[in-house]
Amino acid sequence: MVATINKDKCMYCGACTSVCPFMALELRETSIHVYSDKCTDCGICVKACPVGAIKLIPGGGKE
Ligand code: SF4
Ligand code: SF4
Repeated sequence: MVATINKDKCMYCGACTSVCPFMALELRETSIHVYSDKCTDCGICVKACPVGAIKLIPGGGKE
């Protein structure tokens, strides 16, 4: 499972990028980049997102 961002919901607030303990998320200008090889499926970012834009999806994590 890899964190996957719903771009239609995401407001680019950066809450998820600051809580990820594994530096798997990076706030970019128009996207949240997911380093799928670093994501450990811990789910912390899912709880931190105020708009529910993150899901853990098998093989996901593109952006
Ligand atoms: S599930 Fe955990 S490791 Fe993966 S991006 Fe979210 S906070 Fe980081
Ligand atoms: S916490 Fe949610 S809304 Fe904020 S940047 Fe991350 S995915 Fe987007």
